[in-house]
Amino acid sequence: MVPLRGRSGLADSRQLVLPLRAPSSPEFVFARAFRRLGIRRAMPDFHVEYRPFSSLRSNIALRGNRARVHISDVLAEAPPIVLEALAEILLAQLFRRRASEEARECYMAYIFEPAVRRRVDEARRSRGRVRLLPARGHHFDLAEIFSRLNQRYFDGELSSCRIGWTPRPSRSVLGRYDPAHHTITISRSLDSESVPLEIVEYLVFHEMLHIRIPLERRGSRRVVHSRAFHEAEKAFPHYGRVRERLKKIFSK
Ligand SMILES: [Zn+2]
Repeated sequence: MVPLRGRSGLADSRQLVLPLRAPSSPEFVFARAFRRLGIRRAMPDFHVEYRPFSSLRSNIALRGNRARVHISDVLAEAPPIVLEALAEILLAQLFRRRASEEARECYMAYIFEPAVRRRVDEARRSRGRVRLLPARGHHFDLAEIFSRLNQRYFDGELSSCRIGWTPRPSRSVLGRYDPAHHTITISRSLDSESVPLEIVEYLVFHEMLHIRIPLERRGSRRVVHSRAFHEAEKAFPHYGRVRERLKKIFSK
């Protein structure tokens, strides 16, 4: 995200020179902003790309005479004047100039529009990285467990997913499947010699079932652990015993 001070309305953006021609390419917009800022150096060769960032950040980097610009694709549908403003802000940052008040106000007003905030939240939810440690832990290898269970209970048909340990040894959330990232995480608190293998296997199996069995909707409610889910879960050997052991370990 572009660091900017304060928040203000779009009241006065008329000093931002907005050419009323056909929409320009982003590269052209950057070249124009470059001239507007009166920077005395050779015009860089601009390369602008919209990227699926999980936030509203944008950045610019200069290497030789090539200026590479990455803009969050949340801004891809912004009105031309917003790109004009952003170009000015990024170039001012790069060349240590001051972007005009108009450019800052225009950009800030746009990114605080509720619809834009909503798109940013959505991008954050769906694209934010899932942090996880490698599948091979100190005592258990989750990737190996996944492929073994896949063969045994799913005929090897479950599409492989990212799997790893959580960075923190949570004792409240032991396993989680994140459909947006197709990722299974298992709490690092279970990567211990005091934890029986079948417990870890059961937790991985449970999360794998979430891949296999879709959410059910009852009215507006989403049922994560449906009746079908519970039935399928009982295919795990000694299901009752494993649940009991799990409770014991985590009630300590
Ligand atoms: Zn579950």
